[in-house]
Amino acid sequence: MTMLPLPRVVLLGTGGTIAATAGSATTLNDYTVTQSIDTLLTAIPELNAVARLRCSQVFNVESHAITNKMLLKLAGRINKELSDPAVDGVVITHGTDTLEETAYFLNLTIKSHKPVVMVGAMRPSSALSADGPLNLFNAVLLAASKKAHGHGVLVLMNDQISAARYTSKTHSTQPDSFRSHDQGYLGQIHNGKIHIFQTPTTRHTTQSEFDVTGVKSLPSVDIIYDHQNAGLHLYEASIKAGVQGIVIAATGNGSISTSVKKGAHLALKGNVVCVRSTRVGSGVVSESKTDNKLRLVSGNSLNPQKARILLMLALHNTRDPQSIQSYFDRY
Ligand code: ASP
Repeated sequence: MTMLPLPRVVLLGTGGTIAATAGSATTLNDYTVTQSIDTLLTAIPELNAVARLRCSQVFNVESHAITNKMLLKLAGRINKELSDPAVDGVVITHGTDTLEETAYFLNLTIKSHKPVVMVGAMRPSSALSADGPLNLFNAVLLAASKKAHGHGVLVLMNDQISAARYTSKTHSTQPDSFRSHDQGYLGQIHNGKIHIFQTPTTRHTTQSEFDVTGVKSLPSVDIIYDHQNAGLHLYEASIKAGVQGIVIAATGNGSISTSVKKGAHLALKGNVVCVRSTRVGSGVVSESKTDNKLRLVSGNSLNPQKARILLMLALHNTRDPQSIQSYFDRY
């Protein structure tokens, strides 16, 4: 019997807890990003039986340090890798804190149906029961599989396969932190076997209208959290700083409280587009009659940090709130 050659997977390292070490095996915080993607790879020789791997360090930071410029660089690099017929899939190691932001950005800007799998770890690589090695093994298995084609950017954590559009970090420390409350997981991996249950219904990758080829910067967007006794000063400061968009992490069903109303008025005067999202963590924000008057965009089921990603890309194409609403309805 002739053996088919193994798929070719490119591994891109960006840092995070998966590449971090702490002072002892029982220390689970106060760690430092110390390990390169090659070092992570040498710890899992079993991967040699799964794919032909090539790895590269794009950056090596904690994910709160990732900037728009770094997102653009990463998207450019992945698009370049995937346009090579000799590459079958890409895996990106990443800090979990902002992993969902990068995943959603890539979901909207990668122009390929080949697998792009993001992976991280909740425990540093020096910890007892570190979750990084099995997560990374499963991520490569997924990126090497035909089953992963055409679902948009995927996130592999704790044996669960999630869609970039739906998943979010929901726990500060536990390995099963990534959840998609309303939509559920796309699938799971157990004992080396991939099970896919469903596929995302929002537009992504090859159907996306967003193209960041050659783009050097993105419009600046802030997130403003609403709460009891909120003032106007954060809106004033954002508008003064020159933002082009504001995502309001509003209460409940994107409630238009007095502070949101006043902030949205100020933004409208300053030609700043506001999106109403919610701080509650799940659910769709309903469109409201007040949206028209204040030219507000309702954020669909995107949490504030993902709404910021879509608003930046939308503002790169248009400043018209109605067109931006149509992006939020479709992506
Ligand atoms: N602070 C880390 C990061 O996001 C957390 C993690 O990777 O789990 O880079």
